[in-house]
Amino acid sequence: MVDWLWLILLAALGIGWLLGRHSVSHKLFQQKNGLSTGYVEGLNYLLNEQPDRAIDVLVSMVEVDSEAVETHLALGTLFRNQGEVERAIRIHQNLIARPTLSKSQRMQALMNLGLDYKQAGINDRAVVLFEQLALETGSHRDNALENLLEIYQYEKEWLKAIDVARKASLKGSAKQNQLIGHFYAELAEQAITTNDLRGAAKMLRHAKGLTRHSARYLLLQFKLAQLRGKYKSALRWLEEIISHCPEFRTHILDDLEACYGELGLESLFLARLKDMAADSRSGLHLVCRIADIVQAQQGKEAALALLEEHADRFSAPLLSAKILTLINLGDPLAGGHQVAELADELVVGLASASIENRCNHCGFEAKERHWCCPGCGAWDSLDYQEAS
Ligand SMILES: [Zn+2]
Repeated sequence: MVDWLWLILLAALGIGWLLGRHSVSHKLFQQKNGLSTGYVEGLNYLLNEQPDRAIDVLVSMVEVDSEAVETHLALGTLFRNQGEVERAIRIHQNLIARPTLSKSQRMQALMNLGLDYKQAGINDRAVVLFEQLALETGSHRDNALENLLEIYQYEKEWLKAIDVARKASLKGSAKQNQLIGHFYAELAEQAITTNDLRGAAKMLRHAKGLTRHSARYLLLQFKLAQLRGKYKSALRWLEEIISHCPEFRTHILDDLEACYGELGLESLFLARLKDMAADSRSGLHLVCRIADIVQAQQGKEAALALLEEHADRFSAPLLSAKILTLINLGDPLAGGHQVAELADELVVGLASASIENRCNHCGFEAKERHWCCPGCGAWDSLDYQEAS
């Protein structure tokens, strides 16, 4: 709907310009009346969401007055929105070739042509136009930078994306820091993939201060320390995650156990887990995972004691099912054979169904985590949801 309002505004501006331009001549006065009728007709089609009919009207207006720049711009935009990008490109290219365009009209035509190329996937040409417009001031510059940012992210040109994000209007804002932090994290991940650990460390130094307590930054610092065999440091980073990003606690349990093992601190591992289970920010899934580890190391009575100790924090049927499963462990008749089977099914079913990552911008849902939403491209927009 916003697109249509913008188009209507653009068409209205074009007609306003046409009316002013032709008011000095009787001959053109007649033409003006004809174009006004066309405008009203086109506007009606737009309001009725009939873009094909609106295009017909605008084409006829262009035929009546081939010099009407704004009408061409509106028509080109309509073609692009209708997916007819090649026609939009032809219209905007013809406009730019005119020597009589004002600076503002030329910039608008360049912007529209850039958007045409971007939609057609001809990103190299779009980039040339947007970079030219980024040297200007005002809204064209902002729009150009925004589009460059989208293209460089799509093409994973992270250094260029960082450069553009630093110039964009969101300069110095938390949003800018968040974006640039993710771009450096992308570069650090690339470096880790090629075993360039010094390169990864350098990228993370850049990200520090931008995303100091972000889960992604902390996880990458942990990964780097682990790859370098620095387990004391790795454990410190895991503790930072436990402290600042409680929703990631379940995710790092195996790494935590491995670190305690490498440092010869196995005896302290269970105590750390029990502390974590007692923390009110630990969700039911984490507590159930901890109960499994306790059961494996200390037996089912200890695991049951842990669950019962924290039972008042959770009301979900998953907790009851988990307790039943533990009661029946190694003694299928203790709680009734069928009940045990049902409890197992319930635990598995709830565990897989209740963990979701949902985008708070577009509603995209995924079982796995994404730093950037595959649905709308927003960063850090997928919220972790867990049954309690
Ligand atoms: Zn999204």
